[in-house]
Amino acid sequence: MRSIAVMNQKGGVGKTTSSVNLAASLARSGRKVCVIDLDPQGHASLHLGIEAGPEMTTVYDVFSQQTTIDDARQLVAENLSLVPSNIDLAATEVELAGMQGREFILRNAMQHWKEQNRFDYVIMDCPPSLGVLTINALSTVGEVFIPLQPHFFALQGLSKLFETTALVTRRLNRELRVTGVIMCLYESGTRLAADVTEDLKHFLKSSDNDTPWASARIFRTRIRRNIKLAESPSFGQSIFDYAPTCPGAQDYQALGDEVLAMEAASSGTAQPPVSSAIAAKVA
Ligand code: ADP
Ligand code: MG
Repeated sequence: MRSIAVMNQKGGVGKTTSSVNLAASLARSGRKVCVIDLDPQGHASLHLGIEAGPEMTTVYDVFSQQTTIDDARQLVAENLSLVPSNIDLAATEVELAGMQGREFILRNAMQHWKEQNRFDYVIMDCPPSLGVLTINALSTVGEVFIPLQPHFFALQGLSKLFETTALVTRRLNRELRVTGVIMCLYESGTRLAADVTEDLKHFLKSSDNDTPWASARIFRTRIRRNIKLAESPSFGQSIFDYAPTCPGAQDYQALGDEVLAMEAASSGTAQPPVSSAIAAKVA
């Protein structure tokens, strides 16, 4: 089971769009996929056609340990499950403050999924912050995908984000790796997009081997700006149901294929080996 946190503490960079449409792409390729909506705004849930009213069991109930993750999960399409969220989740940050072990609630809730290899992919749509929900995601998953909107300040927030993953690998989850950066809302042919991509390439290349992003890549697939991607959430449909031939669908299918192609290299659940430098620090 590959588990992926789609994170960036900046809002509006394409986290939800990428979580939902990458998940839909993988499900269409026959993989069993579950999206966990970790944003109190519930956008991923809405995008997948689920408006989580007060009666519905959500990821909030998982965090308050009133239910199992299996009871919160629902099937939303063939091969595609969702653990929905709604505004209730906004209280979690405060409710868990000071609680011992609060970083591991999701990991414990999902442990049997890992052991039983319940899904091929679990994809977590993180909120735009580095609070307890994102930390729960990072202490659970093996991989981080970072959507990035190429603009002048894009790389500034990135160093903070990378530091957070380094902290998490040291303290909470030594398996965590940054797999790659997804260029979203990409305007091909613009100087800015090319410049940001070059800067990022340079930064990644010059990273130390013992960082969790040492083998991170920029995904070859660029997600172009495409109005259909912006329209589809309000219809509660992935891009493949809403406009299956548009450039947005082509791009997310290509991204999905790129992610699938990595399966051979990392053979499913296997993580890249922990570098001896990190292992020494953790020990
Ligand atoms: P985040 O989850 O990081 O806040 P979203 O995925 O919600 O970001 O994207 C922010 C906004 O931009 C949304 O309205 C979304 O529909 C739109 N959007 C995302 N990616 C694209 C794209 N490639 N082309 C056009 N609009 C996009
Ligand atoms: Mg979002």
